[in-house]
Amino acid sequence: MTQRSFADLGVTGPLQRALRAENYAHPTPIQDQAIPQLLAGKDLLGIAQTGTGKTAAFSLPILQHLSANRPSDKRNADDKGERGCRNRRRSAPHALILAPTRELALQIGESFRSYGRHLSLRHTVILGGVSQHPQVRALSNGVDILVATPGRLLDLHEQGHVRLGQISHLVLDEADLMLDMGFLRDVRKIIAALPAKRQTMLFSATMPPDIARLAREVLSDPVRVEVSPRTITVEQIDQRVFFIDTANKRALLAHLLQDADMSRVIVFMRTKRGASRLAEQLGKAGFPTEAIHGNKTQSARQSSLAQFRNGRARTSPRAVSTSPA
Ligand code: AMP
Repeated sequence: MTQRSFADLGVTGPLQRALRAENYAHPTPIQDQAIPQLLAGKDLLGIAQTGTGKTAAFSLPILQHLSANRPSDKRNADDKGERGCRNRRRSAPHALILAPTRELALQIGESFRSYGRHLSLRHTVILGGVSQHPQVRALSNGVDILVATPGRLLDLHEQGHVRLGQISHLVLDEADLMLDMGFLRDVRKIIAALPAKRQTMLFSATMPPDIARLAREVLSDPVRVEVSPRTITVEQIDQRVFFIDTANKRALLAHLLQDADMSRVIVFMRTKRGASRLAEQLGKAGFPTEAIHGNKTQSARQSSLAQFRNGRARTSPRAVSTSPA
């Protein structure tokens, strides 16, 4: 954490109030470096992983810019009238955030909801694996901020349900993961449909050559902010490594799970099939377990997460690579 406050960075009152409610006392390093530059309208290349606070680093300036241009969020805007406001509400989105996975997109949507709680901006999350109808309805009612996985967004755009011609703010989040998951073509097609004049932010934990090229193409004179990945290890977590033969892994896991202090356990797996198989085996061994991966429907994934959160499932094996749209 840094010594400057969010007010020192230029963040306005309604956003500061929302941050107080989230118990964010001070900006994280990436927020401290990125927010003033983004508020000034600069493009940004952020080398940062999840856990650094990068979501607030891009969503706060977007919320602040859009609300400054929005009559209903300005104090003395009463004279603009209801009708003007309603028309604006049906307008096309002004900010687009592209994320590689459905879970990340939902998490970003949640962040916009909590940080923007005192503003009247509307956001919606567009993702695959669920019915498109509620998403189409939300779009036709008008949204200001669109958070999306690339495949479904492109699909809805090709069907004529999404207007991208008003986008003034673009975020490419976890760009290296988008590359790994094969979305770069879709991302490029989406970018081709956006206005050239816009503020663009690209976040990536690593900089493989394809992402460096994409960054050169889409960013204009960007500020580069790099934060050390050390910030993602949480001090309260005791980390241990066991060197063990594959054949003995499951027995060791069952042994470790005997410890009643391990009340909520997440097991990260390499494959979806492995995650399902382990969930079944642990369930049979008496450990209530839910698996989460990309072959499950979005509602099954969310219901598994809910079971895990409320304590009905103690273990949750996850395949590391989940597939979005
Ligand atoms: P992110 O890297 O955006 O996924 O954020 C990681 C976590 O840090 C999230 O749970 C945020 O709610 C939390 N967070 C972000 N900014 C701050 C802050 N300034 N103070 C405390 N927690 C924060």
